[in-house]
Amino acid sequence: MTRTYTQQGLTVPYIAAWSGERVHAPTLERRAARGGPCLGYADESPYDRDEYGALWVRQSIARGRGRANFATVHALRQRQAAVRLLCQVCGTDTLAISPDRQLFVLRDTGQPVTEGERTTAPPLCLPCAQASVRDCPHLRTGHVAAWVSLPQVWGVAGIVYDPKTLRPAPLPGNRPMAEIAYDNPHIRWTLASRHVSVLHGVTPVELDELAAGPPSGRP
Ligand SMILES: [Zn+2]
Repeated sequence: MTRTYTQQGLTVPYIAAWSGERVHAPTLERRAARGGPCLGYADESPYDRDEYGALWVRQSIARGRGRANFATVHALRQRQAAVRLLCQVCGTDTLAISPDRQLFVLRDTGQPVTEGERTTAPPLCLPCAQASVRDCPHLRTGHVAAWVSLPQVWGVAGIVYDPKTLRPAPLPGNRPMAEIAYDNPHIRWTLASRHVSVLHGVTPVELDELAAGPPSGRP
């Protein structure tokens, strides 16, 4: 079971970053790789890439050190939670609670969670989902929820670099990050900071109605 931290009476989400977790900026370089050149770190280690070959921001791991920043996400824990389907708040394996479907809660953008929607949000266990819509500033203004039977690996969100200048390529609309699929050639020049999943097998639900049902199977 993942250790739980609280700050000012609130549970610190598993994926939240702490002040002791610094983001480093190693020197970038163009490097030779199978299939052609790609972005890399001058002092790259195997831990700098995910299992699909994407380069990730380098951020130290010191959960519980300093103060938690609820509004920022730790890149590695977000990826772990999204890929392994861990509850983004308590770190519980949601597959162990509910093997056939996972609960996703997203900010309300005026429509329910839709089939094929992409998200950087990992799933939640039911008790954490209920607490999150009450406590999380991101969700307090409105949320939508769904059971998802097939959350799949899609790609990353990050900064795409110009292969010639090795500077960040400008994005339309001044967006901070681009979402790049693993099968997009630009993935070779992307520095990832979030995992992006695509949601299939979506059944929208009302959390209030789930709350009225039988107790969840949380251990
Ligand atoms: Zn949880």
